[in-house]
Amino acid sequence: MTERLYYHDSFLREFDARVVSAEPGGERWEIVLDRTAFYPTSGGQPNDLGVLGGAAVLDVLERNEHSVVHVTDRALARGPIHGVLDWPRRFDHMQQHTGQHLLSAAFVEVFHFPTVSFHLGREVSTIDLAAAKLETRQLEAAERRTNEIIFEDRAVRVTFGTAQQLAEAGVRKQVEREGILRAIEIEGFDRQPCGGTHVARTGQVGLVLLRKCEKVKENWRVEFVCGERARRAARGDLTTLAEAARLLSCGQGEVPAMVARALEERQSSYRARQRLVEQLAEFQALTLLATEARAGKSEAARVVLRVFEDADADYLRMLAGKLVAEPGVQALLAARAGGHVVFAQSAELGANMNALLRESLQAAGGKGGGTRDFAQGSVPDAGALEGILQRALERLRA
Ligand SMILES: [Zn+2]
Repeated sequence: MTERLYYHDSFLREFDARVVSAEPGGERWEIVLDRTAFYPTSGGQPNDLGVLGGAAVLDVLERNEHSVVHVTDRALARGPIHGVLDWPRRFDHMQQHTGQHLLSAAFVEVFHFPTVSFHLGREVSTIDLAAAKLETRQLEAAERRTNEIIFEDRAVRVTFGTAQQLAEAGVRKQVEREGILRAIEIEGFDRQPCGGTHVARTGQVGLVLLRKCEKVKENWRVEFVCGERARRAARGDLTTLAEAARLLSCGQGEVPAMVARALEERQSSYRARQRLVEQLAEFQALTLLATEARAGKSEAARVVLRVFEDADADYLRMLAGKLVAEPGVQALLAARAGGHVVFAQSAELGANMNALLRESLQAAGGKGGGTRDFAQGSVPDAGALEGILQRALERLRA
């Protein structure tokens, strides 16, 4: 049975112990000590890392209720050993975990929203709240209340007792377990059964910052960061905002208004461009019909055949539409830039443009389709377009 030193002193960064067993597990070793300050992954809190003798601790896990297993990169002899924790990592976990207790208690106090589960992640942590709806003003209120308790620098204490004793003392969430349980008490604010590591005073959490919330099944998931993570997140946001302000040549406070204006301008220039493109297509259709129309199968049919350099598929479709809006027109259009092909004809003509396009493209390894009067597709090799259109013209005339 491993004595868990962190249960009583979460600020223990180094400790002496004895190696009780060391067993190989693949390329790693599994070390059990008589006592340890290393926290194993459990209760939502990630494991510690660090050094054990000359070995790196890669993982720490609970084998059963009784032993803590240290996964190391090399073997260790039985006997005395010195352990050193990766302290920045552990302290970060303590800040996040105490911050989580505070935040969960604040949501209960202010809105009666209980926390149904939580996750302490590598980048951000989350709590899931049982609430019908969660609004921004509620997030802000809970964040404000949590930070009030942090600024009051209240004591965080570890207490022990049976489930019955803890329930009588008043815990946020009751547990039904035998034996002596451990609880974390935040002076005059919260008491919660927990086996995790916590800071000694709320002031050490530094700050809690709520980042966002989203509905997950029937609950609301709130993302938060504490301590150094909160500073890093705020610095990241500020850098992003400063860059946006620089790009928009405005003050940071003006960014939302400037973005809204830029989006409006983009929308109206897009509409203006669409109108111009449409006019261009109309004009080009008339020019092509006047100067490049070739004889079709009958006297009633004219064929426009053209390979463009860089027209996009939208323009090709639009132009084809304008061409065949005139009576007696068959259009065989293509664009080298994307290998696009459009075959179309005026409604009263009798060819099957869909079949013609499919057969024409198939030979060149392309694909496409459409209706009897309007079909489109593409080929992988734009160099084949001239030949494809010429052969299609011959078949139209045949
Ligand atoms: Zn906890």
